[in-house]
Amino acid sequence: MLMGYSIYEDRATSRAVIHKESCQYFINRKSETLPDNRWHEGFETKNEATRRAQRTGCRYVGECRHCS
Ligand SMILES: [Zn+2]
Repeated sequence: MLMGYSIYEDRATSRAVIHKESCQYFINRKSETLPDNRWHEGFETKNEATRRAQRTGCRYVGECRHCS
């Protein structure tokens, strides 16, 4: 359950960023609910998270600079 991967999808800027679930950014912000932003949680591998991130339709898909 822990140490998987999550995606932070920001529709306002069309960015989907992949984080490890141990990342402080994820831990500090996962409970935020903003109308244009959401987390997709619970991916076991980075590949799985990447495939899901690409399906969001965001123009930019990348990995967090702090935890990847
Ligand atoms: Zn991160």
